[in-house]
Amino acid sequence: MSQGLVTAAYIVAAICFIFSLAGLSKQETAKQGCYSGIVGMAIALFATIFSETVSGLGWIMLAMIVGAAVGIHKAKKVEMTEMPELIALLHSFVGLAAVLVGFNSFIDAGDVSAEMHTIHLVEVFLGVFIGAVTFTGSVVAFGKLNGKIASKPLQLPHKHKLNAAALLVSFILLLCFVSADGSWFALLVMTVIALAFGWHLVASIGGADMPVVVSMLNSYSGWAAAAAGFMLSNDLLIVTGALVGSSGAILSYIMCQAMNRSFISVIAGGFGSGDAASSSGREEVGEYREVQAAEVAAMLKDASSVIITPGYGMAVAQAQYPVAEITDLLRKNGTEVRFGIHPVAGRLPGHMNVLLAEAKVPYDIVLEMDEINDDFAETDVVLVIGANDTVNPAAQTDPNSPIAGMPVLEVWKAKEVVVFKRSMNTGYAGVQNPLFFNENSVMCFGDAKAKVDEILAELKK
Ligand code: NDP
Repeated sequence: MSQGLVTAAYIVAAICFIFSLAGLSKQETAKQGCYSGIVGMAIALFATIFSETVSGLGWIMLAMIVGAAVGIHKAKKVEMTEMPELIALLHSFVGLAAVLVGFNSFIDAGDVSAEMHTIHLVEVFLGVFIGAVTFTGSVVAFGKLNGKIASKPLQLPHKHKLNAAALLVSFILLLCFVSADGSWFALLVMTVIALAFGWHLVASIGGADMPVVVSMLNSYSGWAAAAAGFMLSNDLLIVTGALVGSSGAILSYIMCQAMNRSFISVIAGGFGSGDAASSSGREEVGEYREVQAAEVAAMLKDASSVIITPGYGMAVAQAQYPVAEITDLLRKNGTEVRFGIHPVAGRLPGHMNVLLAEAKVPYDIVLEMDEINDDFAETDVVLVIGANDTVNPAAQTDPNSPIAGMPVLEVWKAKEVVVFKRSMNTGYAGVQNPLFFNENSVMCFGDAKAKVDEILAELKK
């Protein structure tokens, strides 16, 4: 394939990626967004593999077959609740790839002209740095999301000074690297520092602040890909990396606003930790009342307005289908039913929206937290299905709580609140929830799907 044709194909692929992002921004067009991304990626791969500059087609095909087999196997097996950890793992591959591309580009500079030599060295250094930070940061995020690493923030003494020292030493190493016209010593020492820096950045962030980390690593992986694009002189990789990097940064910013956290402190690492973890408050703070499914069904029959606030437990139990059926039944009986979605409910941005869309809940009754928070006071019954941190009043009332300051769904203002969970265990942030001990709260213990199924059967009687 001639270079002109490759360039044209790259432009078409880049446009497909832009359409893909635009499509993914709305539920109604998300599927089209996915298709645009697939088409763009297919064009990009085809044009790159069959371009004049690429040789060793056999090896590429072999790598693609192995990669595709692993990818297809994993994608078929992965549960919705495991998606964030899979995404974190995939980000780590992008980081590792950027490091390897950087080393390769240093060993074999190709046809880099003498004037471009210094720029090339800076590209290599920055590419390896960003890649190494992304790699270890994503590995820690993967561990924290699947529970292999404790979600509690790592509290090294002088952690901010350590981060600043890592950046300063890396900058000095960059100067040495460039002035020595490329030095393996400087490159390797920086790689080790960057690996430790990435590890520390994410390990210092804990509990309920993980969603911001996931989107931040998404952004880092984009910049790592863009850096690899510079080293490989591949325009499409630069464009795609920049798209991922900037959209990830925008998502991180939106998540920070939703969590009431400062964007700068996220980038610097180690927010959401402070002294709060010491008073994480796992202990129970009063007495709670238990209800059975039949009583919940009776409450729902009497209610004229119901709000459902789903969380991670609904995803684990796959309770969205009976929840959708209950919604349908109540609406047919004239009850106003709406959903309140917290921006970080579940384990990935938009998790609840995807589940509810899957179960065909109408979009117009699925409202964001800001749209519905004022309506709880006029609501008869709130069903908290597998949510915990996102409905925790301690975020507003306890300044020492690890989730202090995070906006939450103010479910406790409703007349009656039914909480569906299996035990009195804490949620992801590891904090006890005073909501469960309120006078207007009742606990419906058991697997959310089993309980919602029982309620559905009662309502159908
Ligand atoms: P939480 O993780 O706070 O709580 C989920 C609750 O669901 C638990 O208390 C658990 O209690 C219950 N549960 C689990 N399985 C079942 C089941 N089968 N049936 C019934 N209940 C069940 O969920 P939220 O959605 O409220 O909050 C999300 C948390 O995850 C936040 O802290 C957020 O910061 C964090 N997070 C979010 C990400 C995102 O992008 N959205 C990414 C990473 C982290 P029990 O064990 O007693 O059943």
